Amino acid sequence: MGPSGATPEGGGTEMNEVLYEVRGPKALPEMSWSEVEEVLKTTRIVLVPCGTIEAHGPHLPLNSDNIQADYMCRLMATKLAAEGIHAVTGPVMCFGNNPEKVRFPGTLHFSPGLVQTIMEEICLNLFRYGFDRFAFVMGHGGNASIQDLAAQEVGVKTDGKAKAISLNWLQVTKEVYPKLLKSTKREGHGGEGETSRVLVHHPNLVRREAMVPYYLEEPPAGEEVPYSRSPAYGGGVGGPLRDFRQVTPYGHYGNPSLATVETGHALYDAICDWMNRVVKRDLVD
Ligand SMILES: [Zn+2]
Repeated sequence: MGPSGATPEGGGTEMNEVLYEVRGPKALPEMSWSEVEEVLKTTRIVLVPCGTIEAHGPHLPLNSDNIQADYMCRLMATKLAAEGIHAVTGPVMCFGNNPEKVRFPGTLHFSPGLVQTIMEEICLNLFRYGFDRFAFVMGHGGNASIQDLAAQEVGVKTDGKAKAISLNWLQVTKEVYPKLLKSTKREGHGGEGETSRVLVHHPNLVRREAMVPYYLEEPPAGEEVPYSRSPAYGGGVGGPLRDFRQVTPYGHYGNPSLATVETGHALYDAICDWMNRVVKRDLVD
């Protein structure tokens, strides 16, 4: 089996095959307008999942970032409700910025300005109805700096009447991956951690037969990772992106076969608890 993990039968499915189930509190697009009117009596906070459609190795669906961000928002809303705080999950901002992965078929790259505009307009549309507290929940690292700008602009464009924050939980993984993952090597995009999370809600879309371990070369000890935009890996440096197909022929790095549902739940708890601490500090009056 080559890097594609292709199987002879391809991706054909029957109409009665259950690909995935959606659980948890309804998101806004799953409600009728009258349900939204009811929700507005209990909350003004919307959690906006922000992902992308991009390669994550032969074993994970292109939609991985969107479905994780969506799950995070529903879990955050559930956890907040247990504390008597209401928030609702917004529509998924499903298109993102990922020019470095376009050599993997199916990856869709949208220009950063367009992504920012749509993020802002999701909030400005919802502001019309009375929602005025927004959190962009990162599902894709390449959107992180775009989310930050969109959050600022929501305040600017509403003369401060609406408040938006941008949540990037990658720094949480730096803290919890060494404790929660089985791997002792560096797990990243599509690796043990991310595969564990997708297993929680979309197990039928995770292709165990296509899993391969692939590790990046580690930088010499003590040296910063060059060009890292990620706060989890040094951050602080912007720069040209490397063709991801040169970085990894598979589109992921790490060992996805170590992934478990239990690890996925533990990671979601750590990530969402951190994000909720910020939501409570910054968006709850
Ligand atoms: Zn991802």
